[in-house]
Amino acid sequence: MAAFDEFARSIGETPWEKDGKSAAFDNLIDWYGKRAVQLQQANYVTKPTPIEFGFIVSTELNAFATVQGNTDIIGIYSGTVTILKNLFGVILSRGEILPRIGNAAVENSQFVFPKEWADDLSQMSVQACPWPRDPARGEYAARLAWIARYFIFEHEFCHLFNGHVDWFSRVTGFKALGEVGAALAPNISNLDLQTLEMDADCYAASHTLLTVFRATPETIFQNAAHLRTYQEAVFAICIALYCTFRLFNTGELTEETDLLVDDHPPAALRQFMWGATIYSRFHDNQAISNFISREDFDAACHEALLEGMRAFALLGWDDRGTLKSSKLVHVLREAADKLRHNWEKIRDQLEPFKRGAKLAQ
Ligand SMILES: [Zn+2]
Repeated sequence: MAAFDEFARSIGETPWEKDGKSAAFDNLIDWYGKRAVQLQQANYVTKPTPIEFGFIVSTELNAFATVQGNTDIIGIYSGTVTILKNLFGVILSRGEILPRIGNAAVENSQFVFPKEWADDLSQMSVQACPWPRDPARGEYAARLAWIARYFIFEHEFCHLFNGHVDWFSRVTGFKALGEVGAALAPNISNLDLQTLEMDADCYAASHTLLTVFRATPETIFQNAAHLRTYQEAVFAICIALYCTFRLFNTGELTEETDLLVDDHPPAALRQFMWGATIYSRFHDNQAISNFISREDFDAACHEALLEGMRAFALLGWDDRGTLKSSKLVHVLREAADKLRHNWEKIRDQLEPFKRGAKLAQ
């Protein structure tokens, strides 16, 4: 962890030290550290270099990927873990949401998200949130948080694997590609930054889905109730990702909104793109279609989105940046096409920095 710790301090942050005070975080560091090495060994065609995973002690929702010397580094801010745990704890502690999971009748929470949290997400990592009373619902909440965390980890891994970080450093002189603050980097357009983010989101959505299907839901979710079938797994992945992206509020969306001005695509566009990616994997990858029928797959995705929307309405969460009219779908499609077109343009520049072609696992 030497390289991770040194880098964290160089950007004025505190690296999480494994000192036995929080077994949950210590275990996560071990798990993701091993997973990073495993993915690297299985997939890098370039000579595997050291890879480190660590947490930054923080209340923020943020993550980054960087290369320091010859070491690949993935960092996640510890607030991210707490925020996601609280998000799904709050959702499952309301009996009206996901009523078929566990014994929803014992839940009596009427919790709604305080309005200020939409503007300051770090509040969600420091203030107390309800946790489900029913153990099966608590376990389900923990598994949804796992999916969301794993997605973020794969997103950061993609920034390394697909050469984003190396290319970004070469172009801008910046050493790390962070999820917050990338717009400050010189010599790179926000369109290019959004293109990298699109690539990382699509990669992460695909690999979260594939990881679950290849290992089987029972193995990944350790036989948790309501997570044993492929259909239940698709439902859980879709609702976990939908709810996570709902945290990123981004202004009112109208037909006039320019979706490509910031360093990350707005949440509604990211929802649209990961959704399309998951849908495509059913059609182009037998690791998915061999295990679930199209009807079951479509139903799981559709029901997850509806339940996710219902959950956020019940929780009184700010709905800025959500799609209020189906007419706006063409605005999202147009923006996604522009990003895809731009990806074709920067693809050749990224090529020399890629660590491998296609992931084996
Ligand atoms: Zn990113």
